[in-house]
Amino acid sequence: TNPVFTGLETTIFETMSRLAMAHDAVNLGQGFPDVDGPEDIRQEAARGLIDGPNQYPPMLGVPALRQAVAKANKRFYGLDVDWQSQVIITSGATEALADCIFALVEPGDEVLLIEPLYDCYLPMVQRAGGVPVRLRVTPPEWALDLDALAAAFSPKTKAVLLNNPMNPAAKVFTDEELTELARLCVQHDVYAICDEVYEHLVFEGGKHRPLMSYPGMENRTLRIGSAGKTFSLTGWKVGYITGAANLIEPVAKAHQFVTFTTPPNLQRAVAFGLGKDDSYYHWLSADLQSKRDRMANGLKDLGFNVLPCDATYFLTVDISGMGLGETDVEVCQRLVKEAGVATVPVSAFYGGDAPVDYIRFCFCKQDHVLEEAIARLAVWL
Ligand code: GLN
Repeated sequence: TNPVFTGLETTIFETMSRLAMAHDAVNLGQGFPDVDGPEDIRQEAARGLIDGPNQYPPMLGVPALRQAVAKANKRFYGLDVDWQSQVIITSGATEALADCIFALVEPGDEVLLIEPLYDCYLPMVQRAGGVPVRLRVTPPEWALDLDALAAAFSPKTKAVLLNNPMNPAAKVFTDEELTELARLCVQHDVYAICDEVYEHLVFEGGKHRPLMSYPGMENRTLRIGSAGKTFSLTGWKVGYITGAANLIEPVAKAHQFVTFTTPPNLQRAVAFGLGKDDSYYHWLSADLQSKRDRMANGLKDLGFNVLPCDATYFLTVDISGMGLGETDVEVCQRLVKEAGVATVPVSAFYGGDAPVDYIRFCFCKQDHVLEEAIARLAVWL
């Protein structure tokens, strides 16, 4: 028979969520909050369903949401964005990533990826015919080696795909790192696809700085956000891309052949959400920060070596020397089956030759759920 392509693997999130269900485990694996986002946003979505229209919205997105995205760029980052030509709405950041990659990457183009990397990057770049060039940040600080960064650029480099703040490392790239990355992109005439879905999940009052706001980057950056993260509504899959008009144009061409549109009521509700006042955004990061501390302290008390976490809703721990198993995969399997706690092996975020000493806990869960996970781990250890 004619062979099908077998190069795509089951994502680790699906694998771990299935195992969590099968073993009735506390699910700290796949990243999603266990309480839905703001009720007023959900009510707005419900109204949109009833009032309609429920037909195909404009291909680029509902005007109210495109306007809200442009406004948010100005409000949070001082970026001037024309809502009509520089914003496009997608079905989640995942579609946004695919659209950007389909728009920019041609067979043979090199795409710079920073490991650990979010799991859809590699398959998307590869299926587009791109050549991934992987560069690592190393724990515990996940620092970027600037010499290695400079050496990773070549005449074939078409784009760099940056996830900042970074999943699973919970790292916020430093000003120095971003400055150098921007300088190299300008020097080598390279585009940046910036996955910034965790832009509002930064702790200790830290402020997210989009690579797009660095000198020379405004016209070579596609900046991606997600309502799933910003409003704790991961199932909605509403994403948005901001970029120069001449980049949004080819991205829109890709989008029209991937999904064409995104549900109009959800777009309308997210537009409403983006207009929320500062107190919402402060609450979001403060609430997650306290959960981070609860989980980190619980894990430290159990003897885990918890790595720094400056953003996102993930904590990484170094399990080396604990005698829990040979590899992160084995430890995660034991944890879900024996302890009843689902986590994610960090080796899943590498394209090969991965370190095997790190596992990821998702902490955007109710406090009693985090306590239950800690209690189960205490019994098991
Ligand atoms: N981004 C989520 C995580 O890192 C998972 C999303 C998904 O399942 N595709 O856990």
